[in-house]
Amino acid sequence: MQTCTSPTEKRRIVIAGGGYAGTTLAVRLAKRIRPSDDVEILLIEPNPCQQALSELDLVAVGPPRPEFCELWLPTIFKDLPVTVCYNRVHAVLPDEHAVLVGPREGPHEKVPYWRLVLATGAVAFVPPVPGLKEHATTMWSVHDAQKLQERIQQQFRVAAKTVDREARARALSFAVIGGGATGIEIVGTMAQMLPKRMLDHGLDPRDLHVHLVEGRPDILYDLPESLRRKAKARLARLKVELHLGSMVSSVDDEGITLENGARVPASVVVFCGGAKADPDATTWGLAADPSGRLTVDEWLRASGKPDIYAIGDVAAFRDPETKRTLPMLAQFAIREAEHTADNLLRELRGQPTEPFRPHMHGEFVSIGPSYGVGWAFRFHLSGIPAIIMKRFTYVMYWYEVGGIRIAWKRLREMLAMQR
Ligand SMILES: Cc1cc2nc3c(=O)[nH]c(=O)nc-3n(C[C@H](O)[C@H](O)[C@H](O)COP(=O)(O)OP(=O)(O)OC[C@H]3O[C@@H](n4cnc5c(N)ncnc54)[C@H](O)[C@@H]3O)c2cc1C
Repeated sequence: MQTCTSPTEKRRIVIAGGGYAGTTLAVRLAKRIRPSDDVEILLIEPNPCQQALSELDLVAVGPPRPEFCELWLPTIFKDLPVTVCYNRVHAVLPDEHAVLVGPREGPHEKVPYWRLVLATGAVAFVPPVPGLKEHATTMWSVHDAQKLQERIQQQFRVAAKTVDREARARALSFAVIGGGATGIEIVGTMAQMLPKRMLDHGLDPRDLHVHLVEGRPDILYDLPESLRRKAKARLARLKVELHLGSMVSSVDDEGITLENGARVPASVVVFCGGAKADPDATTWGLAADPSGRLTVDEWLRASGKPDIYAIGDVAAFRDPETKRTLPMLAQFAIREAEHTADNLLRELRGQPTEPFRPHMHGEFVSIGPSYGVGWAFRFHLSGIPAIIMKRFTYVMYWYEVGGIRIAWKRLREMLAMQR
């Protein structure tokens, strides 16, 4: 059996999950520890390529790429004092201060920890609507995005061979379910980029139909009313057909039936209706809220377990000011990771730790690669300034974890995907 660790006298910090939260934490800790801290950092993550959740719309609809990776972890960690184990945490044994590492079917290696940080993220949640699981693609991983890319290519091939105009338009009907940020980003990118891709394939963009289905009467509820209006105006300019205010009752291979009886024809359906915390985390004997996110105290420590932290999407941090649980957003995952890294350093040095106080400085949603809506501090932005702000947050993340070279490389890749 391949093992993750070798015996050590040092205090070991084990980080489970190398997404936005886990990678930020590992990099920040590694850059700040001193030899006298006497610590080993072990990051356990099954995938050497970090999932590009915030660029999935471009991966799905932009120019096809054989492979896509937001950050290649071996490059990020090659010069840092972090041991990366490309495997998964199978179980947590809080009483033994250890995790079991290995595939589901075993064998498992027992890895002791001094502190454990759980950052295993979330997965797409598909409600039990008839036909939804069978006929819709979710949008929560690069694999999902590549599946959608393939489905689009497939429909282009079908349309190219179809003489009848109506049948061709049916083949080129796409529907996105979910009017939150994820759904709006994917529908906007489809509506803006597919016409050009169709022209490249000798197809007539007038045959394209892009639908957005949302059960509530409006979209983007997290944004102020004025920005929601701008978002809808933008979708109208992109000729997205909106179906608001009725839930989906079933999905089949020709489209969607709504509870109000309306029919939305679609050869490809994308479901962006929700996410739930990593379901494995609820099997680890730690307290979770009703939605399955691990409950944490103000220091982001798992309830009743002072040597286990939980951060990012898997954790349910209740903001003491607003009394609301933080939403699953990369910006909070990153802030929680930075805070936890600083608290771990304080713990290592025998200093008092500090409670986490979240602040939301802004939120931006892209509606196609060249337009966005959102706010920062007290300013509302739309159009190109908003999309620049949105892209800027990615660049900052790449810069923080990978430095200027990686940030520049990724920025060029992202701009290439938008063409
Ligand atoms: C399409 C889409 C668009 C989004 N856009 C935005 C946006 O614009 N802005 C924003 O703020 N947020 C956005 N989000 C949300 C954001 O991506 C998440 O909040 C963020 O990824 C959370 O980071 P995380 O580190 O908690 O989890 P993740 O980034 O999901 O990382 C979790 C990691 O844990 C690993 N893992 C899972 N199980 C195990 C295990 N048992 N052992 C070890 N490792 C494990 C996984 O492989 C993964 O690498 C978007 C999400 C989606 C799906």
